[in-house]
Amino acid sequence: MFLRELDTPVTHIKGVGAAFAGRLATLGLVNIAGLLSWYPRDWEDRSHTVPLKDFAGGEAVCTEVEVLAHDWFGFGRMKTLKVYVEDASAKAVLVCFNRPFLEKQLEQGKRYRLWGRFFFKYGEIQSTAFEIEPVQDHGSATFGQILPVYPLSAGLAQGSLRRLVRTALAEYGTRLEDELPPHILVKYTFPPKAKVLTSIHFPANHTELADARRAIIYEELFYLETLVGMRAMERREKGRRPGAHTKPASPTPSLASAIADNGLSKAGSDVEAWSPLQSRLVERLPFSLTSGQLAVIDELNRDMESGCPMARLLQGDVGSGKTLVAFLACLRAVGNGGQAAVLAPTELLARQHAENAARILEPLGVRLAFLTGNVKTAGRNTLLKALAKGDIDIVLGTHALFSKDVNYRDLRLVVVDEQHRFGVVQRAAIMAKGNYPDLLMMSATPIPRTLALTVFGDLDVSVIRDMPPGRKPVRTHLARQGNEARVYEFVRKELQAGHQAYFVYPIIESGENNGLKDAETWAGLLKKKVYSQFRVELVHSRLDEEIKRDLMERFRAGTVQVLVATSVVEVGVDVPNATCMVVEHAERFGLSALHQLRGRVGRGKDQSYCFLVYTKDPTEDGKIRLKVMLENSDGFVIAEEDLKLRGPGQIAGLEQSGYLSLGLADPVRDAEELAKARVDAFAMLEADPNLSQSKNAVVAAVLERAPPFSTVIQ
Ligand code: ADP
Ligand code: MG
Repeated sequence: MFLRELDTPVTHIKGVGAAFAGRLATLGLVNIAGLLSWYPRDWEDRSHTVPLKDFAGGEAVCTEVEVLAHDWFGFGRMKTLKVYVEDASAKAVLVCFNRPFLEKQLEQGKRYRLWGRFFFKYGEIQSTAFEIEPVQDHGSATFGQILPVYPLSAGLAQGSLRRLVRTALAEYGTRLEDELPPHILVKYTFPPKAKVLTSIHFPANHTELADARRAIIYEELFYLETLVGMRAMERREKGRRPGAHTKPASPTPSLASAIADNGLSKAGSDVEAWSPLQSRLVERLPFSLTSGQLAVIDELNRDMESGCPMARLLQGDVGSGKTLVAFLACLRAVGNGGQAAVLAPTELLARQHAENAARILEPLGVRLAFLTGNVKTAGRNTLLKALAKGDIDIVLGTHALFSKDVNYRDLRLVVVDEQHRFGVVQRAAIMAKGNYPDLLMMSATPIPRTLALTVFGDLDVSVIRDMPPGRKPVRTHLARQGNEARVYEFVRKELQAGHQAYFVYPIIESGENNGLKDAETWAGLLKKKVYSQFRVELVHSRLDEEIKRDLMERFRAGTVQVLVATSVVEVGVDVPNATCMVVEHAERFGLSALHQLRGRVGRGKDQSYCFLVYTKDPTEDGKIRLKVMLENSDGFVIAEEDLKLRGPGQIAGLEQSGYLSLGLADPVRDAEELAKARVDAFAMLEADPNLSQSKNAVVAAVLERAPPFSTVIQ
């Protein structure tokens, strides 16, 4: 079929009037293409007999019966027909709610084909949901085969949609052209597209159905990965900035060669010289960079000079020193005459970054600004003007950095810290602020492979595996509730030695009978009863920003020794003198939260401790999480355990990323096919970037006609 014909409106099919078309439109079904790719959500196997006696197995009965007798129960409008039937194995009753007409249609002594789900009720095998038709010589449209079950909306019946799809297949299906490149059809022995579509709707048997599913799933993922690959190429092409960079673009890197390590745009291996600002910062540091940090900075420098916009994901465990790496990248952008923006998920973290930047970047003469939703109007206006004029080099803040009214003179680099906290980052909105600025996303939470290949499928990945030297692994202890006194005593010794501690609670204030310790009550108790000789303060998300900031400053300065908090301290907070983290009701926290919380200590040279206090009867999952925390310190291992416990579907980002727009494919379940489709799609793009060769033109046309995954690729 020519692709054009797929745009034929459904009303061109025999028997589709305006009313029917209207109901189809509520499902988004307007043309032949939509109809043929409205895949069944399930299939009913009516190809073999399931006798009445097997009704309880969960499978629907599919058998031939004789009508024995009629009976009625109830009165007036509630009067309901009962039809007694029998097959070779058992007797049963059809309860015909709202179907009195069946009295005439189902004649005593005659034989019928019956399909339905049965239950044991009032001493009988009964069904209220069944289909029945006379046994006829010329066969049946609904029996003796595997039938599709479509996702429907009100006013549409399975029967009418089945008839419609059957007609559409008969009229258009036979002339259907293959869409995937021929060598791929051969490689995977996919049936021709016409056959695939017939089989997905009306499979002759289960093998045929499996083959059709396999082909469609692959096809969907192939188009998805083609879009991912095209997007990476577009960034490289359109983002090219001749002249702006000192170096000419490196020869177009090979898409295929980059597949092995997920990256799409690995440049050559020569090392870029550090910029003067970068060198000056590093000279002033009281410590030397880890080899992991050095390697990543080389990668960033190379990316930023390549002449194509960088798109890199930096993964490094909590405390591995990602912030410094980000600052060094910012300095490069500034040295090149541009601006940089550093985006953090919380105001607390944004402020900490701003304070760090003020400490280590300002002495280099770099002009900084801090922007969040809370920056008040007057100051905000001045700041926005300065940004637009280019009087600010680096701006740090929350998502307010990308509000409508914020304009940059020359935004060259965007850093997204703790990117997993943003869900799927709306990259389009961020990138629109500059002319394809370089993008650096950072995360301590390793990204599951599925996300790495799809939502982040066009990013290069860097990993920092090592920690700054001298760090001692945090010692983790479990304590049953009731034994906290010993924990408190231990912490007291640490406080007496001049260290600081966090106490984290699952809720801010006491709720109704939930039996949970809350931050407010316990801040009071710790202050008055337990650590009365120390300074104890409470911080949580509902406090005023000013107060929060003041508290954090005093905690950082050491005048506050005990910080009682909710999970607001979970991400990013960096106070090296804090050596104790006490998490109450630890069994209620997720693994990544616990790992992040534990990462708040062990940031200095002193031995640190994490106490996970749990309630008497944690859930099974809760127990496993505590065990994982006790036995592991590597964030990558913990993330894998987390994935096992929660299942990939729960991972932040997946559910918001538009995967639902895939028809049959599920990138998590079909991870293997996804990887194959990716390799194939990239190879195709590398050989033929514009998809102009005739065998690829069909792929281009399919993507053009109905980009089904547009929401994935924000
Ligand atoms: P994260 O990767 O979790 O964001 P940070 O960037 O907050 O980690 O760094 C944690 C701490 O380690 C900070 O106090 C930072 O100054 C310090 N740090 C970073 N790099 C080094 C290094 N090479 N040697 C020693 N300390 C470092
Ligand atoms: Mg950080």
